[in-house]
Amino acid sequence: MDALLINNQAFQLFLTEAEIMARIAQLAQQLNADYSSRKPIFIAVLNGSFMFASDLLKAIQFDCEIQFVKVNSYQGMQSSGKVQELIGLNQNIANRPIIILEDIIDTGLTMDFLITDLLRYEPESLAVCSLLLKPDALKVKLQIDYVGFEVSNQFLVGYGLDYNGLARNLRQIYQAV
Ligand code: 5GP
Ligand code: MG
Repeated sequence: MDALLINNQAFQLFLTEAEIMARIAQLAQQLNADYSSRKPIFIAVLNGSFMFASDLLKAIQFDCEIQFVKVNSYQGMQSSGKVQELIGLNQNIANRPIIILEDIIDTGLTMDFLITDLLRYEPESLAVCSLLLKPDALKVKLQIDYVGFEVSNQFLVGYGLDYNGLARNLRQIYQAV
């Protein structure tokens, strides 16, 4: 399907399943070269990254573990605004190589928080692997080690990404029109 309507918002096809899979195979190849025999822990950020994490890990050829975490965001008491909280990490990551898996990095604020929080546990190394990146939307300086696709500032759905909770189940990625 090349066009669809979700809650009265129109979307058109942006990345096909074949394009996504081909790029994930390349990312896995890079990771296979960089992490063989290092036994890293992947930390996948829910909800958006579940499909990406699943397909990427099927192409990983080294021993690895995976953890799923969530970043909760809520309006705090302070006037400074949003408070973020990492939940779900239930394993000691000290002295282990860590690879964060994200669906998309937009302003980068979520990833910046996550990196700062995870570094407190003193992992051996910390790398970021995001399927999608909006370089023009970044509000903080981030080192992003593995990127599937750089995209412009547009709203994307499908393949884990949602629009009001919908569309995460789609095999392709669509852009709002
Ligand atoms: P950031 O903190 O980098 O601004 O945003 C990260 C989160 O915002 C992503 O994990 C995702 O949940 C959401 N987000 C950013 N851009 C998009 C987009 O184009 N589509 C969807 N569905 N979510 C997005
Ligand atoms: Mg996300």
